[in-house]
Amino acid sequence: MNKDSKIYVAGHSGMVGSAIVRKLEKEGYSNLVFRTSREMSLTNQAAVEAFFEAEQPEHVFLAAAKVGGIKANDTYRAQFLYENLMIQNNVIHHSYLNGVKKLLFLASSCVYPKLAPQPIKEEYLLTGDLEPTNEPYAIAKIAGIKMCENYNRQYGTNFISVMPTNLYGPGDNYDPETSHVLPALLYKFHIAQAEGLDKVEVWGSGTPKREFLHVEDLASACFYLMKNYNDSEIVNIGTGKDISIRELVDIVIDIVDYKGKVIWNTEKPDGTPRKLLDISLIKNLGWTPKIALHEGIVDTYKKKFSNIN
Ligand code: GDP
Repeated sequence: MNKDSKIYVAGHSGMVGSAIVRKLEKEGYSNLVFRTSREMSLTNQAAVEAFFEAEQPEHVFLAAAKVGGIKANDTYRAQFLYENLMIQNNVIHHSYLNGVKKLLFLASSCVYPKLAPQPIKEEYLLTGDLEPTNEPYAIAKIAGIKMCENYNRQYGTNFISVMPTNLYGPGDNYDPETSHVLPALLYKFHIAQAEGLDKVEVWGSGTPKREFLHVEDLASACFYLMKNYNDSEIVNIGTGKDISIRELVDIVIDIVDYKGKVIWNTEKPDGTPRKLLDISLIKNLGWTPKIALHEGIVDTYKKKFSNIN
């Protein structure tokens, strides 16, 4: 990838895509091409075909996807399966047909079995049952991984897949119903603090453990792998450290300075008990995360809510 290579970032306005665009621009890459979802629906095969034929990108970051937290995944099950399959089928297939030199597919750590040994190595893919709450999303992402792998095998393409852990940072979804846990907690505890509420409901038992990666670190890893990694083996991207939801709640309460009570709603699902990624592969390739969790949350919180109080 050269500074003048034509690069298509699919999903450029989402949290991950916009972080990748910022990283590319910071590194001096200016020949970037995008389409808003209004200009081109990535689920529309004819539209994606026309786009690739007209633009002929050389490198593709496939960061477009239908995403959400545990409740959104469990509620919009059909949409998570259909839309993600359509988006990735269209982008991966037309990248192949139009001779894209390299494509990076953003999959997810939820592709691994619900009860995988911890920390999760790349080789544990397809060794056990998936977590039911996000099985449709995981199945779509596994299909995308297998498309990249098998297009490489049959057609000699250079399509790589990465497995990010739970992400946070600028551009996240803060809707308390559909978001992931970290933005949901920042939002709920911020509102409670600002409005003087005396209790906040959080979901599940608090015992599940999650690993959180700042999206700027993810973008830096994707950029690094696009430049330096050319293999079908999938690559985990995380911090290698996890914390319980209870510990996360304590951190958020401290940052937001909330003084009221926490109500644990155990009617809501816990999801997978733990999903800590083994990041030895990417570390051995020469990349490590830089943003510490506490500092990353403080920064995210300030940027999002500083003007609301
Ligand atoms: P997951 O990593 O795919 O399970 O997705 P989430 O980030 O949505 O949820 C992670 C964990 O946080 C689960 O155990 C949830 O039950 C728990 N959790 C606690 N409070 C909340 C909340 O307000 N929103 C979300 N999304 N999850 C919460």
